[in-house]
Amino acid sequence: MNYIGQTQIHPIFVLLKLIRMAEEKKEELKPSVSFIEQFIIDDLKAGKNDGRIHTRFPPEPNGYLHIGHAKAICLDFGMARKYGGKCNLRFDDTNPVKEEVEYIDSIKEDIRWLGFDWEDREYYASDYFSKLFDFAVDLIKRGLAYVDDQPADVISAQKGTPTRPGTESPYRKRPAEESLDLFYRMNRGEFEEGSRVLRARIDMTSPNMHMRDPIIYRIIKASHHRTGSKWNVYPMYDFAHGQSDYFEGITHSLCTLEFEVHRPLYDWLVDQMRTSYYRPRQIEFNRLNLSYTIMSKRKLLELVQDGKVSGWDDPRMPTLCGLRRRGYTPESIRRFIDLIGYTKVEAINDVSLLEYAIREDLNMRAPRVFGVLDPLKVIINNYPEDRVENVEILNNPEDESMGKRMVPFSRELYIERDDFLENPPHKFFRLAPGAEVRLKGAYIIKCESFRKNENTGAVEEVHCTYDPATRSGGNASHKKVKGTLHWVSARHAVDAEVRVYDRLFDHEDPAGQKDDDYRKFLNPDSLKILKGCKLEPSLRSAKPPDKFQFQRLGYFCVDYDSTESALVFNRTVSLKDTWAKINK
Ligand code: ATP
Ligand code: MG
Repeated sequence: MNYIGQTQIHPIFVLLKLIRMAEEKKEELKPSVSFIEQFIIDDLKAGKNDGRIHTRFPPEPNGYLHIGHAKAICLDFGMARKYGGKCNLRFDDTNPVKEEVEYIDSIKEDIRWLGFDWEDREYYASDYFSKLFDFAVDLIKRGLAYVDDQPADVISAQKGTPTRPGTESPYRKRPAEESLDLFYRMNRGEFEEGSRVLRARIDMTSPNMHMRDPIIYRIIKASHHRTGSKWNVYPMYDFAHGQSDYFEGITHSLCTLEFEVHRPLYDWLVDQMRTSYYRPRQIEFNRLNLSYTIMSKRKLLELVQDGKVSGWDDPRMPTLCGLRRRGYTPESIRRFIDLIGYTKVEAINDVSLLEYAIREDLNMRAPRVFGVLDPLKVIINNYPEDRVENVEILNNPEDESMGKRMVPFSRELYIERDDFLENPPHKFFRLAPGAEVRLKGAYIIKCESFRKNENTGAVEEVHCTYDPATRSGGNASHKKVKGTLHWVSARHAVDAEVRVYDRLFDHEDPAGQKDDDYRKFLNPDSLKILKGCKLEPSLRSAKPPDKFQFQRLGYFCVDYDSTESALVFNRTVSLKDTWAKINK
């Protein structure tokens, strides 16, 4: 009995109170309005920018999108949707050297898959090259930019340190006409890459290093995927980004924290350009970092190029195409992003939370089926050899509207190898000599004997008897046994390959170890390919990307490599979080 104060309370009331407390806690845990959303609400209320909200998602097409990008996408598109605004897709294609059309197509596919739409607003920073060039010319004429003839290392040495002011370039006071002439000639291709740059003339003593005459244009003599060889000078990110926001009428430019220190430059450049009260506002939030993986596009590309994974869409990759192939749903990813929220503090998010989100989603939606990954033959000695019974099984106990199906039962079955032990420990409620278990949806069986392979010593067959009165739903079906096993009728089983994926790295923060290369932490067991798995016959017609719960094992989806004659499944996630246990 429990006591609260002096009164004796029945345990049922204690339980009810606990449930109520848990529900209240759940209320508290519901994501509140993020600081960004609050800024947006305040701006709209104050009628800023005519009460409009217009955001953009600005990927650089130099790799595939990953789950970190999903965090930005959900915010950019999500805020616009929620507050009746618009969100543009803008490819930040200012570096002709690293960018490829393949990436552009994949980025569009992934954003649509996540559930967002930019309608007809697909833009490219390269669309603005002419306008940006004109703006640079304007800055030169106004004495706000100059061509510097020094090499990059000298410019960088003159920048000073956060505590020591920079030194002015000898070219800083160069007449505007001279800079203008040189800038045009830079663009005509008269000078070598690296020989000259265009710099904004701001303040070499500013406490913000980004304001110390930043480089705004450089010479690159490479062909651009959209503008070809038209340009020999290309704008730097800082010079293109805010201006592109301005050209598109963006009101809230949401980006990750590393751009916080760029904000004064963002504002300075926009202020040199704007002609009215309209002004885009940059707001920064924390990046998504996920445990046991990496988020750098450069490193992900290395994994692909070095063959450490099968491609950008390898189901172990944190890319959106990888997660999709692994069996993740857009709903689960959006839910995960919702759970982690947006803050101003960098942190590593636990991948278990992502796994929780997919389990929660598939629990409601994935039909339950029987699949045996490591088959062991069970023979029911007293079951007639030619008999086949169809037993009825619920497709999803969480959702009866998903119906039932018939599963064939016969004399020879497969069960999971580790569901039988010759010498079971105490409390092993599965099959063992003399023990009884229920075969889910069918009968209670009792293990009478087993046979081992003479050479390997491995158990090859388990012989059982069944009790006909114990059929599920029948007279003696209420007979109590502690274990229930999944099974597949041997004669009806469909063979399949199952790819069991685990975390790609075995270190929580593989990229954050100063003395070790991230590749040192690649998990050697991140992929196990199981052949000859036995699945119930209803799965014969499964097609990608169908998703199932293999009972007692986890969630699985049909892989794109699957064919009618050779089924291939991916394990999305196990039913329980095994890592949480290992790490305790
Ligand atoms: P790069 O180093 O190539 O610039 P990036 O990851 O910043 O890589 P972008 O294509 O520039 O890639 O990113 C597009 C948008 O997605 C940017 O607004 C960026 O801030 C955001 N973003 C990128 N990575 C993350 C992340 N891990 N979490 C949240 N947002 C991210
Ligand atoms: Mg970037």
